[in-house]
Amino acid sequence: MAVFNMLENVDDLYEIGEVLGSGHFGQVREVRERATGSRWAGKFVKIRKCASSRLGMERKNVEREVEVLQALQHPNIMALKDVFESRAEVVLVLELISGGELFDFIAEKENLTESDAIEFMKQILLGVGFMHNKQIGHFDLKPENIMLSDKMAPNPDIKIIDFGLAYCFQSGEEYRCMSGTPQYISPEVINNEPLSTAVDMWSIGVITYILLSGMSPFQGDTDEETLRNIIALNYKFDDHHFSMTSAMAKDFIQNLFVKDQNERMTAEECLHHPWIKPLTRKQVANRNRSSINMKTFKKFNAKRKWKMSYNMVWVCNRLHRLKLLCKTSALAGEELRQCESDQEDTETKPASLIRRRLSNSS
Ligand code: ATP
Repeated sequence: MAVFNMLENVDDLYEIGEVLGSGHFGQVREVRERATGSRWAGKFVKIRKCASSRLGMERKNVEREVEVLQALQHPNIMALKDVFESRAEVVLVLELISGGELFDFIAEKENLTESDAIEFMKQILLGVGFMHNKQIGHFDLKPENIMLSDKMAPNPDIKIIDFGLAYCFQSGEEYRCMSGTPQYISPEVINNEPLSTAVDMWSIGVITYILLSGMSPFQGDTDEETLRNIIALNYKFDDHHFSMTSAMAKDFIQNLFVKDQNERMTAEECLHHPWIKPLTRKQVANRNRSSINMKTFKKFNAKRKWKMSYNMVWVCNRLHRLKLLCKTSALAGEELRQCESDQEDTETKPASLIRRRLSNSS
């Protein structure tokens, strides 16, 4: 078992500031180091007290997230500075990422050429390629987990966040896991097959498709329908939404929506695809002429944000109901205090096999 620095009160070293975001097992808050005045993001994760409890995160999963972050030092990946542990929680002190989500940044623009979008895609691929070279899969790539260091900078840096589902492969080992967010997961996850880092490349295909068209490729009316569409590879580039998209961009996506993980483009191969790295002047011109469908993209992003806040309200209501319930049970009350933000739900639909996230936008 990994030992983190024991610190009963993080407040001794850091001044705790505003909430930056909420996750499955806790909050992320801005923190200021008292000794230096420097600003960081503190991820406060409640730890599960006993195996039978459903509240809080299992310690081994926090250890896994920390180990992964410790192995990943790259300009496009959120950095981990320190880890502290108290009786009930672990605090990850992370690089503060203040530019917000990439999709929000893009949605504020009037127009964007494919070349502009490619500059961001390149950085995502560099970060993902770096982790894949270290045999680490992120397993939860989606717009909410792609942020910008500083949106005021002339060329903002991409930062990949949330390594809560990430996994480091040991050689020769089989790893299966039915977690992720329905819209972005690959067929092998749904089919509970052995996974590889290629899972992330499928998600990059989904993100690219949405970025260019404002449409979600496999989205059904229900999660079950979405999962069925993914398994059947049921997607198309309809003329209406892809009228401004280059043929190279479609080819790029097609090479990621490949069922066989071994045949799917790797991050390294993506970086050499002519859409990302054009070889001829004609290819450069095609990229510059093509643009993002801003009208549908803005609509997609507004709907995504609406669903995120809807989920947040749903969680708060559920927490409130739980608190009322806990007034009649001292034990449950103690557990709740130890993990106020836990929100694992009790859905019984097949799609609930897939871990649902607070930021889930399916
Ligand atoms: P989830 O349940 O979505 O997996 P989680 O518990 O793993 O969430 P994160 O996704 O890591 O938590 O963080 C939750 C939110 O906090 C993010 O969506 C983001 O808005 C914000 N956040 C996380 N890390 C940082 C950071 N380093 N700097 C600024 N904001 C951050």
